[in-house]
Amino acid sequence: MQKTVGYAAYNHNSPLLPFSFERREPKPSDVRIEILFCGVCHSDIHQVRDEWGISVFPMVPGHEIIGKVTQVGSEVSEFKPGDTVGVGCMVDSCRVCPDCNDHLEQFCNNAVFTYNSPDKHSGGANYGGYSTQIVVDQDFVLHISDKLDPAAAAPLLCAGITTYSPLKHWKVGKGDKVGIVGLGGLGHMGIKFAHAFGAHVVLFTTSSGKAEDAKRLGADEVVISKNPDEMQNHLASFDFILNTVAATHDLDAYTALLKRDGTLCLVGLPDHPHPSPSVANLIFKRRNIAGSLIGGLKETQEMLDFCAEHAITSDIEIIPMQQINEAYERVLKSDVKYRFVIDLASLKEPE
Ligand code: NAP
Ligand code: ZN
Ligand code: ZN
Repeated sequence: MQKTVGYAAYNHNSPLLPFSFERREPKPSDVRIEILFCGVCHSDIHQVRDEWGISVFPMVPGHEIIGKVTQVGSEVSEFKPGDTVGVGCMVDSCRVCPDCNDHLEQFCNNAVFTYNSPDKHSGGANYGGYSTQIVVDQDFVLHISDKLDPAAAAPLLCAGITTYSPLKHWKVGKGDKVGIVGLGGLGHMGIKFAHAFGAHVVLFTTSSGKAEDAKRLGADEVVISKNPDEMQNHLASFDFILNTVAATHDLDAYTALLKRDGTLCLVGLPDHPHPSPSVANLIFKRRNIAGSLIGGLKETQEMLDFCAEHAITSDIEIIPMQQINEAYERVLKSDVKYRFVIDLASLKEPE
């Protein structure tokens, strides 16, 4: 066993505090990774505060992990010590069900998420990336190109794949008018991908101060969603809208903006349900409301390779681990430009 230090929430209303624990010795198919950077996802905050009602404490969050391989088991062929690698939201799945066979491990009934998920090795809940190292089965480790800045690549492991996957699934491309709702961690990656795929991109934001940044990130237009007149200008005109908002809100405002057969895809997962949407809004133009969950391992590697080829990373603010509680407060105020990334060097003793 290897001593590991990190930060944990001890209960649903505690701040994150230092925490020591042990990682397993690598099994033959395992990769041991020294964590360099870990992104801060709004899902970390939902779980630390037990807003989804599934939290196990103490909890070490973190599923946007970039690190260096330090050791590999005897059966590991794809990775060697020194490689830069990533770990996202999953660390295992059953490998045999239809979802796993279709490379959609995120939908496997036995998917093991990176933290707050049952760990067959320890018998308790597993611990995530707000820590100095992690041991992961090679099939759930991703290659990170040297072309990508490692800190700015960390958010690709969740915010990146969660926006790339639905844009690909609904075949967003040239000629499409695409909306992105919310300019936070997911939203800013949604703008970058939709723009890279050639769509006409419209950002919906509650923060007028983010308009200039949205254009720099690739948005063609910005709509202040609190302004009904601006919303009216876009009635029945969108092919696809990706909604990343982390809070309960009225979906009718967005379904009304879809063309016939258009889709509003929800990826934000608030603690309380949205008000039930208007059925009339849906049936009169055969509109769809859908959801999407991260992406499988194969598609995550495809997304990472696409990012290396097209020089796409996240816009980040790097923080030491010790500033995590302040960072959470800023995310909750929609005040992050546009993802916090923890530099794990802040937890390591000087050599
Ligand atoms: P984030 O950085 O906090 O961004 C959310 C954005 O939503 C905010 O920046 C804000 O943008 C907007 N917003 C916040 N409160 C709002 C409100 N009351 N009304 C309208 N807009 C509001 O969060 P994130 O990390 O991108 O995550 C977003 C959501 O996706 C979370 O619920 C998270 O759990 C979920 N998530 C889902 C998946 C998945 O696989 N489906 C994966 C990762 C995360 P503006 O200032 O521009 O309005
Ligand atoms: Zn996430
Ligand atoms: Zn499975």
